[in-house]
Amino acid sequence: MQKPAPADATIFSKIIDKEIPANIVYEDDLCLAFKDIHPCAPVHILVIPKKPIPRLCDASEDDKVLLGHLNLVANQVAADAGIGDAFRLVVNNGEGACQSVFHLHYHVIGGRTLQWPPG
Ligand code: AMP
Repeated sequence: MQKPAPADATIFSKIIDKEIPANIVYEDDLCLAFKDIHPCAPVHILVIPKKPIPRLCDASEDDKVLLGHLNLVANQVAADAGIGDAFRLVVNNGEGACQSVFHLHYHVIGGRTLQWPPG
């Protein structure tokens, strides 16, 4: 699996490498899903690729299959958490959109009534 350069390593790389603990709910060769440390809803899970793509806008054609896989894993972890028919999938892309960890991640959020539009 491709490793980030040390300067690019984020806290999520350390979770992938099991250097720091996380509440992991799903793992396969391509991705990992774990509970968000500051949940904004009863269910708040992050799905991340093991490949260190910083932002969604940094993904390329080569990542097409991986991005599809992340969506299906999001479905799966939502179903496993009992919210398969009502959840929100969020990607914050870039600082201006409140991205704080620069390793691509999908937020899977649910377990309460969600409002629209988000803030
Ligand atoms: P974003 O603002 O979209 O980059 O989201 C980053 C998310 O990562 C936030 O919801 C944080 O609460 C979450 N987070 C940061 N560090 C950890 C950690 N060590 N374990 C689990 N979630 C984390």
